[in-house]
Amino acid sequence: MTASDYRKDFPLLQNEDTIYIDNAATAQRPQAVLDAVKVFYETENANPLRGFYPLSLKATESCENARATVRDFIHATSKKEIIFTRNTTEGLNLVAYSYGLSHLKAGDEIAVTIMEHHSNLLPWQMVARQTGAELKFMECETDGTLTDETIQTVINEKTKLVAVAQVSNVLGCVNPIEKIVARAHEVGAVVVMDGAQSVPHMPVDVQKLDVDFMAFSGHKLMGPMGIGVLYGRKVLLEEMPPFLTGGEMIDSVTREGAVFAELPYKFEAGTVNAAGAAGLAAAIDYLNQVNFDFIQEQELALTQRAMEGLAKVPHVHVMGSEDPANHTGIISFTVEGVHPHDVSEILASDGIDVRAGHHCAQPLLTYLGVHSSTRASFMFYNTLDEVDAFVKSVASIRRRMGYEE
Ligand code: PMP
Repeated sequence: MTASDYRKDFPLLQNEDTIYIDNAATAQRPQAVLDAVKVFYETENANPLRGFYPLSLKATESCENARATVRDFIHATSKKEIIFTRNTTEGLNLVAYSYGLSHLKAGDEIAVTIMEHHSNLLPWQMVARQTGAELKFMECETDGTLTDETIQTVINEKTKLVAVAQVSNVLGCVNPIEKIVARAHEVGAVVVMDGAQSVPHMPVDVQKLDVDFMAFSGHKLMGPMGIGVLYGRKVLLEEMPPFLTGGEMIDSVTREGAVFAELPYKFEAGTVNAAGAAGLAAAIDYLNQVNFDFIQEQELALTQRAMEGLAKVPHVHVMGSEDPANHTGIISFTVEGVHPHDVSEILASDGIDVRAGHHCAQPLLTYLGVHSSTRASFMFYNTLDEVDAFVKSVASIRRRMGYEE
């Protein structure tokens, strides 16, 4: 199978007029995912985990099969460690509200990197505000590197929690999770990993990485919107208080109180997005079928071609590493004298979809002295022709804005 064979699986990509390279924002869905959602609603739809009639049992089974698929995909030890959420943001907030507020106190420190998405920063700002703990930043080099010295000094005896993205949504760099985890565990801190940009592009093994929590979104790995996953180490989840309370997450309720359900249901208040879970499982099956070796090879070739092309365009600056292998298919760039909103509008007029702005990572852009940027992000189903059209369009921008070169 080639990339163009796989491309046929994506209904939206059959529109020849659109070059979709905003995959870090959300990916496109293959037919298998659309079918899985449809099959759920057409043949399995009932409230899962509630009824004892066959249809509800079918819905429950579909949901639990999806949970097992996720467990195997990220190599968790048990289904109890897989909590269905709406998205990465909700998973990270769950950890902040449930673990953060109950475990941190004044005098403690929370370590984050300067490149965190706001979803993995604002929850920790909230925890710091409410508990009196202090937020500390691991600052990176301009290519995104976090040095050993930074890791060793920012994570110290006071650190109780470290929040870090495996892959930056702006620079695309892969952070040294193993080193961060080793240091965090050495000082007795837990590690919360944001897997939003890594899980769709590389094999992620939570046991090998030894992270304590990891959140990701279904929609970035070709699954439906509105379904996400929080992985948590069982011993930690077991002693954490619930995040949201209500139906579905209890064993018994009296007028005064409640006994909460066992894992993972304690953290799944209300009706779970079972159709979304079925779609997510189909997306994972599809990813596994394509396989990460092929995905990585393809995405590297696309990134390499784009970086080589952009390097030849005067006044264009690519942010982050010079090595395409350290971009995970993400290229953020600036065009001198042209606002990224104009860059993206010109690209859009050529049928090219990219993201422009601060990418929900304002502290990183401020730190790097860049107000905003344009971001192209590739998925294995993009083609070299699309990359060439993108580079050609970028090369025309300054002229189209009235510059002489
Ligand atoms: N973290 C990172 C690194 C991201 O790129 C994103 C999505 N842009 C998020 C978190 C938030 O994902 P979601 O909006 O699906 O919650």
